[in-house]
Amino acid sequence: IKVLICQGTGGMASGAAAVAAAFTEEFTKQGVEASVGKRCEVVGTGCRGLCANDVLVDIVLPGQTAVTYDFVTPEMVPQIVTEHVLGNEPVAKKVAGEYYTQFLAKQQRIIFSRCGTVNAESLDDFLAHQGFTGIKKAVTMKPAEVIDEVKRSGLRGRGGGGFPTGVKWSFCAASPGDEKYLICNADEGDPGAFMDRSVLEGDPYGLIEGMMIGAYAIGCKFAYVYVRAEYPLAIKRLQLAIDTCYAKGILGENCMGLGFQLDMRIKAGAGAFVCGEETALMASIEGHRGMSRPRPPFPAVRGLWGKPTNINNVETFANVSYIFYNGADWYSSIGTEGTKGTKIFALTGKVKHTGLVEVPAGTTMKEVIYDVCGGILNNRKFKAVQAGGPSGGCLPAEALDAQVDYDSLIKAGAMMGSGGLVVMDETTCMVDIARFFLNFTRAESCGKCIPCRIGLKIMLEILERITHGEGREGDLELLEDMAYDIKKSSLCGLGQTAPNPVLSTLRYFRHEYEAHIKEKR
Ligand code: SF4
Repeated sequence: IKVLICQGTGGMASGAAAVAAAFTEEFTKQGVEASVGKRCEVVGTGCRGLCANDVLVDIVLPGQTAVTYDFVTPEMVPQIVTEHVLGNEPVAKKVAGEYYTQFLAKQQRIIFSRCGTVNAESLDDFLAHQGFTGIKKAVTMKPAEVIDEVKRSGLRGRGGGGFPTGVKWSFCAASPGDEKYLICNADEGDPGAFMDRSVLEGDPYGLIEGMMIGAYAIGCKFAYVYVRAEYPLAIKRLQLAIDTCYAKGILGENCMGLGFQLDMRIKAGAGAFVCGEETALMASIEGHRGMSRPRPPFPAVRGLWGKPTNINNVETFANVSYIFYNGADWYSSIGTEGTKGTKIFALTGKVKHTGLVEVPAGTTMKEVIYDVCGGILNNRKFKAVQAGGPSGGCLPAEALDAQVDYDSLIKAGAMMGSGGLVVMDETTCMVDIARFFLNFTRAESCGKCIPCRIGLKIMLEILERITHGEGREGDLELLEDMAYDIKKSSLCGLGQTAPNPVLSTLRYFRHEYEAHIKEKR
């Protein structure tokens, strides 16, 4: 008998530890093991996506499918144990409703397949669910063949840019030198994005395996995971997994006895959004202030400590493990022509079921918001969705049929970004939203180059006077001119994409800007 309790950050914040303790206590009190003659296990799992309805608990009785309860509290536990575990009669009133089936129906949970089903802290559980079969397969191939397999899969980097992963690996592999570095970018700084945190908390061994495959392919002996310090549970679970891997000889001088070396270390970030940018991230690891530098030279040629370096994000490495479990052909059969596999999205804002969803690329935005996440809160009217975080864009109702893939979203005026989707209803002022995101990027600018440092500040001042009813004639044209200039002349991705929320709201909601300016007159 298993009781699976969601113990990601969302679950823990909602009281998952107390619920787990209540089950353990109740099993002893009611003598459940003796009574049913079966072992009872209370398992803390990673997040299963429906964070708004935590604490989520699955009761798995022998030979039966799991029954899910939502909003579980310690007070509900005695009844669940008596009626369901002992009496084989689920407590109907407390079982998660039809919405939960609907939430899962259109998802294809590949990266999340272990999140919510296995004990995130158990190496044995990981091994029982395909764990490390990917790296074992990879080492039967030559490093160049591993890179070809990733190229054939069509995997594109999930960090935002969408660059083909296999091609990126080939650049670093081709760089001369024995000392190379592999970095996992887990500095997930977009407001509303928490996909990577969930993978780190729910499947840390899966990430380690993906990085081992990357390190073997490129020829790196040292890897860093750069995790934002605001993710203490993710850091704790990942550190535990790394320590266990060292203790079992999975990491170190001769990984799993497979004949290659890999050391891995966590570097906790210090809360700067710009450190999600590759060159700023490497500066931070080296102990410098997190600031971007011009490229070229690209990290694949001169990266960390001046050595060839390859950087991918958490979701990208997590995908790699599954490519080697199931093959490139399997992977490339999922998704669209230009975007293969699945994509994880974090939904927040005015949507009924906030949380994390994993859908095949090509699913429409409408399906994600309405079919998976239940539509708009309080049955209000949908107004827009901000896709791709502060560097992305706001899409209106007319763009809801856009498929979630790299190319379609760019065409619609947004970007995939790392996968944050902030949903807005009819009560939201879009000028205010543009101001919010611009204020965020302005505050996070590292200040190194003038277009970003000064330009964003001036754009923000214009937006502020518009929202305060003091807009002037010509402000919108000035905003547009500045936005394009900043995009063109900024040094790094932060400045190059920061004006996007302003441009997309001007494109789709210009009338709201004009109404603010007219109000004053
Ligand atoms: Fe720094 Fe902004 Fe210039 Fe990037 S674009 S280097 S964040 S000032």
